[in-house]
Amino acid sequence: MKVLLVEDEKKISDFVVRGLKEQGYVVELAEDGEDGYIHATSQSYDVIVLDIMLPGRDGLSILKSLRKSGNTVPVILVTARGELDERLEGLNLGADDYLTKPFYLDELIARIQALHRRSSGKSLSMMQVGDLVVNLSTREVRRDGELVELTTREFNLLEYLMRSPGRVLTRTQILEHVWGYDFDPSTNVVDVCVQRLRKKVDAGHDVHLIETVRGAGYRMRKE
Ligand code: CA
Repeated sequence: MKVLLVEDEKKISDFVVRGLKEQGYVVELAEDGEDGYIHATSQSYDVIVLDIMLPGRDGLSILKSLRKSGNTVPVILVTARGELDERLEGLNLGADDYLTKPFYLDELIARIQALHRRSSGKSLSMMQVGDLVVNLSTREVRRDGELVELTTREFNLLEYLMRSPGRVLTRTQILEHVWGYDFDPSTNVVDVCVQRLRKKVDAGHDVHLIETVRGAGYRMRKE
């Protein structure tokens, strides 16, 4: 799960970024409106958490431009108390949800998960490929009924692969999605992590689910 937070108040962004990372999310932060818009239009995110009052360019204007250009990324607007008009305008402009400051991290996480489920068309928090089952809410992974212990990074990588079985994901896509954009693209962390994941998920099974596509990247086997 990759989240963009557009927020200029350091006190809020610090606690949100830390909290979401602890939950295993990849989080990118933009601290003003212009930067937020550039991030939102140049990368793909699962959810954008967008403050309304921002220096440079306000959240509503960013939202408006995104929707106008056909970008349907789920957006949670963050409003200060008393910004009721803005909140209504935001929902009219195509915001998916809103939160009023101050908010609890748990509440934000619940909203993000709900939006993500809605946008990926799944009502349950389970993903399955063959005999591999991933529970997104408990983060439990089982292969043929046996519990598979994964690190946060391995879990995020597996989740990303499982989201689109059969589709080849390049190393760059994986790097951006699972590690975040500020990682050196020449690093081999993706290959190393895939190897570790394979050892845990595929070793000892006849069917290997994580496939290498030579010269292109990796994909989850399609049933
Ligand atoms: Ca603000």
